[in-house]
Amino acid sequence: MPAEIDHTMTLRQRLRRARSVAVLTGAGVSAESGVPTFRGPDGLWRAYRVEQLATPEAFARDPLLVWEWYDWRRQRIAACRPNPAHQALAALEQSVAEFLLITQNVDGLHQRAGSKAVVELHGNIWRVRCTADNSVTENTDVPLGTVPPRCTCGAVQRPDVVWFGEPLPETAIARAMRAAEQCEIMLVVGTSALVQPAASLPQLTKRHRGYVIEVNLEPTPLTAYADESHYEAAGVLLPKLMASRC
Ligand code: NAD
Repeated sequence: MPAEIDHTMTLRQRLRRARSVAVLTGAGVSAESGVPTFRGPDGLWRAYRVEQLATPEAFARDPLLVWEWYDWRRQRIAACRPNPAHQALAALEQSVAEFLLITQNVDGLHQRAGSKAVVELHGNIWRVRCTADNSVTENTDVPLGTVPPRCTCGAVQRPDVVWFGEPLPETAIARAMRAAEQCEIMLVVGTSALVQPAASLPQLTKRHRGYVIEVNLEPTPLTAYADESHYEAAGVLLPKLMASRC
């Protein structure tokens, strides 16, 4: 059971004292690395909205088009490096007894920054999954040689990511929910808090009397019930918080 909330503590002190911290990240945490967010000005590809590409229906209709988009995204991500926000979160993990980083991102940048306890709610863009036998393999080819890529069984592979309308991987969401319920602090970074069920994880923390801190450039639906909201770039704010822990 989290300790009684003390509203006089500063954010740094809170993080320093916390025994258990869960972090929820969205596309905003990778924006300063150069990975486009979906809803930002750079989020469009050709004339398509993401909802026209990241769905099972779009893939069934036109797998080549969907793969061309993923090939483009993979090339962009391959050229990106973890930024100070990813690095600060990797450092935070080292200084908290119970820690889980829950990410909606598929880019793998948290792991590249050194984060270990990571739950990927929406999969990973560097894995592919066979549409026939469901086998999952790593594929880091940039650009992809053959589009669409094929499994050894001959069937077409798809990106191992969660598309709109698809359920989240069961073990990932179960682990995330447990951490959301049990943490003293949930730090929510760079998510528009519009995509469910990830957006309801901070609500779970609130219901279990945890403390929710939001870091974003602008208010989101989460702002209404977060205990603190900080409107500053994650790559600027998070390193400042971690610096005080050394
Ligand atoms: P989103 O695009 O809906 O929202 C991004 C949020 O980040 C916005 O609220 C924006 O204000 C904020 N933001 C932008 N730059 C920031 C910065 N420097 N510091 C702090 N905040 C910043 O993204 P979402 O909420 O993650 O949801 C969309 C879905 O998009 C997710 O499911 C995710 O899988 C997918 N996605 C992933 C990536 C990636 O892997 N990097 C990129 C684009 C989209």
